[in-house]
Amino acid sequence: MAEATYDPDNIFAKILRGEFPSHRVYEDDAVVAFMDAMPQGPGHTLVVPKAPSRNLLDADPATLGPLFTVVQKVALAIKRAFGADGVTILQFNEPASGQTVYHLHVHVIPRFEGIPLKPHSGGREKPEVLAASAEKIRAALDD
Ligand code: 5GP
Repeated sequence: MAEATYDPDNIFAKILRGEFPSHRVYEDDAVVAFMDAMPQGPGHTLVVPKAPSRNLLDADPATLGPLFTVVQKVALAIKRAFGADGVTILQFNEPASGQTVYHLHVHVIPRFEGIPLKPHSGGREKPEVLAASAEKIRAALDD
């Protein structure tokens, strides 16, 4: 079977190029973070390196340090913004793992005692809810 390759027209590549809308919470030279459109809980955010790779397996190791620096920054901001008890970090590689979008990304999800996660890639959240969550996270990042 042919090796799977990076598709520059995947939805996150379009979001990174500004060709498809998203609710952004953070951007620097190497990394963007925006709200997951089908959140597994309130505040579910995706942290995405600008450098193209399908996932962690084919990523340039040089992208991982800056990526996980932002994952930590966003996790701390989300915990503050939502008053969360904890934060789940998820990252999927290839279909067998549950990956559905083939541009490397890390899920950052606030967690609350006793409240389970909603299904992965479940229902779409209302844009106004995503916008309000993004605003809260941006404010916490500025604190
Ligand atoms: P994966 O399974 O690849 O780790 O996760 C892809 C994530 O992208 C899912 O959590 C899904 O809800 C989210 N997602 C899919 N399409 C879009 C989209 O168009 N915009 C945003 N912001 N998130 C999306």
